[in-house]
Amino acid sequence: MFKTAFYLLLTCIAAIETTAQSFKSLPSIEQKMVDRGLVDIQKMDPDISVELKYSTTDNFIGRDVYGELTRAYLQPEMAKRLAKASALLKKAKPGYRLLVYDAARPNSAQYDLWNALDHLKIPARSKTQYVADPKIGSNHNFGCAIDLTVTDEKGIPLDMGTKFDFFGPLAYPRSEQEMLKKGKLTAKQIENRQLLRKVMTQGGFKVNTTEWWHFDGMSKAQARAKYGMIP
Ligand SMILES: [Zn+2]
Repeated sequence: MFKTAFYLLLTCIAAIETTAQSFKSLPSIEQKMVDRGLVDIQKMDPDISVELKYSTTDNFIGRDVYGELTRAYLQPEMAKRLAKASALLKKAKPGYRLLVYDAARPNSAQYDLWNALDHLKIPARSKTQYVADPKIGSNHNFGCAIDLTVTDEKGIPLDMGTKFDFFGPLAYPRSEQEMLKKGKLTAKQIENRQLLRKVMTQGGFKVNTTEWWHFDGMSKAQARAKYGMIP
């Protein structure tokens, strides 16, 4: 009798906790993405790791721009392509995983990023060298771009020759052979980038010529026409 009552009580507590969790509100920028039908990429493929750099201070501005947002979202079609790239990576290199640094970014967060550049005392005319003008938007603002790397079987990011958001030719895929000749990049670092590029292009993404970590699912004009900007 007491035992039955005790179990009933435990069941009630569990039910209350579940209800409380489902009512817990999402951070507002996350809610905007959910409302527009974007999907949490880890729900599509739980083997993909996520560490949103703009939700930490470990980024080139040294400021947390995303606040409570810690999950990565993409347009559903883009998330499917990413899951394909993730499957291809697991097949080619068992134990290796994709590690996402940034994905969909609402335009309001693009403004926050743009304004945060002022802390670096970057002159207004040079700001677009670092961040896309929020009035025009970045492909991230349409949920069609992703920044990522690859981790090894111990979960350690592969050596790509530069950190994420390093600005300069050392990060340019188009300058790799030149950097190799000058001894600034090693063959292994280029091979690591090629592994990322191979699975991402086979998954359906396009390579960026100046950022080894950035991939686009379509052009910005196509993304604007198809999805519109996340406000
Ligand atoms: Zn990017």
